[in-house]
Amino acid sequence: QNLTKYFVAKRSLFGKAESYVKAVENVSFQVEKGETLGLVGETGCGKSTIGRTAVGLYSPTAGQVLFNGENVHAALGGSNSLAMRRKIQMIFQDPYASLNPRMTVGDIIGEPIDIHGLAAKQERTSRIYYLLKKVGLNPEHASRFPHEFSGGQRQRIGIARALAVDPEFIVCDEPISALDVSIQAQVVNLLQELQAQFGLTYLFIAHDLSMVKHISRRVAVMYLGSLVELADCEELYKNPQHPYTQALLSAIPIPDPVVELERKRIILKGDVPSPINPPSGCKFRTRCRYSVARCAEEIPVFVSQNEHYVACHLVKKN
Ligand code: SF4
Ligand code: MG
Repeated sequence: QNLTKYFVAKRSLFGKAESYVKAVENVSFQVEKGETLGLVGETGCGKSTIGRTAVGLYSPTAGQVLFNGENVHAALGGSNSLAMRRKIQMIFQDPYASLNPRMTVGDIIGEPIDIHGLAAKQERTSRIYYLLKKVGLNPEHASRFPHEFSGGQRQRIGIARALAVDPEFIVCDEPISALDVSIQAQVVNLLQELQAQFGLTYLFIAHDLSMVKHISRRVAVMYLGSLVELADCEELYKNPQHPYTQALLSAIPIPDPVVELERKRIILKGDVPSPINPPSGCKFRTRCRYSVARCAEEIPVFVSQNEHYVACHLVKKN
């Protein structure tokens, strides 16, 4: 709800903050129980910051994150913080960096079980074996170390660790971006099977619209710290309204060579402006081919028509 997150970019000699990276500004959306919401945008658009704030790794500069109506950050700072921590888990982008190289796979998965006091010794082992099987690995893998596994297998270990506490909501922060294309579909399929079996809800972050297409029920698009569009997955791909979403979609290669030759790529001019000093009004205006005077003066409101949300002055609203 109205989530804003600034990081200090520069401090004076005396420690006073002089400039800020405006990573996320006034972002509101809901993830509904049991769904996967895809969150897409280029590197640095703020999507990971939203994910990390949602799980409590960052606290918001303004606004709040609610889980079933409960303020996540208030709960994490309170006396019963473990209860909230257990409900919301995260799968990280880089399976190489997110697993402790000195711990066995069994201990990596067992650690959250211990922290949350979920199982006694005997039961702990059987729980670890169960989780390994659920993610397509086997009990013999428990005594091995992360470096003995491929990238896809390491991501499976990361998924088992997230599942270990029986969470309700998982932020998947670019879980397939670092993997070979041939492995990506397998990990997406696994996440979908686990979702169906355990009733999980996902926020699935990716930098490319093609990566979220098969897993998302709805997709949200971000640009420079703001949400620009959010719609049902099929609707967004068929009928993109925001000029930025249109450009992103036009950049996805189409397998049919005839269609590929005939369609027009929208090439965005210029670079993404700095999040320290974003453009006034619509942040996309420096790269938008439809930009008019109003776009520099007024921040476009994120409004919906039939649950299709867009933030652009030119999109007609009824
Ligand atoms: Fe382009 Fe203006 Fe719409 Fe922004 S508000 S996307 S600059 S037309
Ligand atoms: Mg990221």
